[in-house]
Amino acid sequence: MVNKIDHLGIAVKDLDEALKFYEDVLGIKCVETEVVEDQKVKTAFLPIGDTEIELLESTSEDGPIARHIEKRGEGIQHIAFKVDDIEKALEELKSKGIRLIDEKPRKGAGGAMIAFLHPKSTHGVLIEICQRD
Ligand code: ZN
Repeated sequence: MVNKIDHLGIAVKDLDEALKFYEDVLGIKCVETEVVEDQKVKTAFLPIGDTEIELLESTSEDGPIARHIEKRGEGIQHIAFKVDDIEKALEELKSKGIRLIDEKPRKGAGGAMIAFLHPKSTHGVLIEICQRD
C-alpha cells in the first residue's frame, strides 16, 4: 500500500533555532518553508537521501503542534508514508477497520494531498499518508 517514508515530521518550538542545528550542524539544507494555515503550522522541508525531514513550528497557541509540544515536548510528531492514490488508500484503510483522523484527503505543505491515521489504530504512531503529483 505504501511506497516509502516520504518524510518525518518533527515538532519544534522555534523553526529558525531548529534550522541552525539541522543546517549548520548536520549539514542538511532547507529547500522550502511554508505556512499551512488550516493546520496552524509553519513548515520547513529538508531533503535527505530518498526522504525528507519536515520541521513544524506552531503559528498559534492552540494548534496541533503547540498541543503536541505542551504534552510531550519537542520531537518526532508523525511519520509520513507516500502512496500513489490517497483516495484508494483511505478506502482500503477504512475497509480494514483503521481509524482515520481525516476521512477525506486535505492539502498539506508543498501541494501534497495528505491524511492522518489515528494513533489508536497504529500502535501509537501518528501516521500521515501523502500523495504528491
Ligand atoms: Zn507531514
